[in-house]
Amino acid sequence: MEELDIVILGGGIAGLATSLALHRKGIKSIVLERSETVRSEGAAFGIQTNGWLALQQLGLADKLRPNSLPIHQYSLLIIHCNGNKTRIRDVLIEEGIKRRESVGPASYGEVRGVIRNDLVRALAHELPLGTLRLGCQIVSVKLDETLSFPIVHVKNGQDIKSKVLIGCDGSNSVVSEFLGLKPTKSLSSRAVRGFTNYPDGHGFRQEFIRIKMDNVVSGRLPITPKLVFWFVVLLKCPQDSNFLRNQEDIARFTLSSVNDFSQEWKEMVKNCDINSLYINRLRYRAPWDVMSGKFRRGTVTVAGDSMHLMGPFLGQGCSAALEDGVVLARCLWRKLGQDGMNNVFSRKRIEEAIDDYVRERRGRLVRLSTQTYLTSRLIEASSPVTKLLVVVLLMIMFRDQIGHTRYDCGRL
Ligand SMILES: Cc1cc2nc3c(=O)[nH]c(=O)nc-3n(C[C@H](O)[C@H](O)[C@H](O)COP(=O)(O)OP(=O)(O)OC[C@H]3O[C@@H](n4cnc5c(N)ncnc54)[C@H](O)[C@@H]3O)c2cc1C
Repeated sequence: MEELDIVILGGGIAGLATSLALHRKGIKSIVLERSETVRSEGAAFGIQTNGWLALQQLGLADKLRPNSLPIHQYSLLIIHCNGNKTRIRDVLIEEGIKRRESVGPASYGEVRGVIRNDLVRALAHELPLGTLRLGCQIVSVKLDETLSFPIVHVKNGQDIKSKVLIGCDGSNSVVSEFLGLKPTKSLSSRAVRGFTNYPDGHGFRQEFIRIKMDNVVSGRLPITPKLVFWFVVLLKCPQDSNFLRNQEDIARFTLSSVNDFSQEWKEMVKNCDINSLYINRLRYRAPWDVMSGKFRRGTVTVAGDSMHLMGPFLGQGCSAALEDGVVLARCLWRKLGQDGMNNVFSRKRIEEAIDDYVRERRGRLVRLSTQTYLTSRLIEASSPVTKLLVVVLLMIMFRDQIGHTRYDCGRL
């Protein structure tokens, strides 16, 4: 059986960020990823100030900025800019009529769209050769009977034992199942994400626009002067997606769902890069499960979506995963940095480090997942009573709607 110090399960954003953060602190890890290549589905992410602060710690912010336009406006539904001051405007259109428009608080943070491939490659590129093992699917996790260290079982029959196991294996995580976390829940929404390339330039303002029209929420985020990232969230979408057999079906289905949007919006969806389209049903880990979940068992823990899967309504999943990586590496380094893995107390110290990580992250994640959950309920609700209740809760709990974007995960 192969024996390693730190094994990270999943080479998505969380896995690569955690491995890179550890590498920056001089701690070696191995990332096991089931895909044959680093995965690029999901087109792009909107990354806000908190995500850029984490990227800064990972040494990647300046490498990614040249390929992504700064967004001067960001909002819950529609954003508008006034000079270099950001103003937030909510526009809710129902049955073709503009129902609500409100101006929210000002924000001076950094918002940019980043192509998923650029981010994943930038993370992977900085890792030492041999860190990332592709085509390595883990089917189960168990504890070694004598020392209680984790052993992962690879689909090819191999077993790998490690001193630390970090599950960054996304929404269907085998590690969160091993930890005994409650299963994630399904929203009634489905989301499509894609790119549209405008060879002569799109000419859009550097603003993130998000529009809700009846049962469809769609957002547009310019990435470069020629490339636009967009998404369409279909609320109350039927469970059955068997009719979506290929990329062409997804393109047709998405275009039909924005039929009531402006001509410019429809053209954007119609002229998309069909290979960039990615559809999935939205799932989340309930905020009360994030609050009470047991995120450590022995020397096993989780990060990213496996820990705190949330809907895309605040655009924070990726940034929160980057924060996890920075905090987890810092906690492990504080306890193990000087002594390394061979110290006789290492098992106890690893557990303490993971406990520190969980403690530090839990408060932040409960707030993020609660705000995301309430926002999704507000967007999905049809009853005025429910809407009112959710608005009141949001106002009481999150008076500063964009406070979460100013969070700083601290120095690595
Ligand atoms: C419509 C939509 C829009 C979004 N927009 C934004 C946004 O604007 N900003 C933002 O910050 N976030 C956004 N998100 C959220 C973001 O996409 C996720 O939170 C982020 O990708 C989570 O990264 P992760 O590494 O935890 O999981 P993943 O990216 O899912 O990575 C998990 C990895 O683990 C691998 N894996 C899984 N199981 C195994 C196994 N058994 N063995 C080996 N490998 C395994 C997978 O192949 C994968 O590579 C959005 C999400 C959606 C759905």
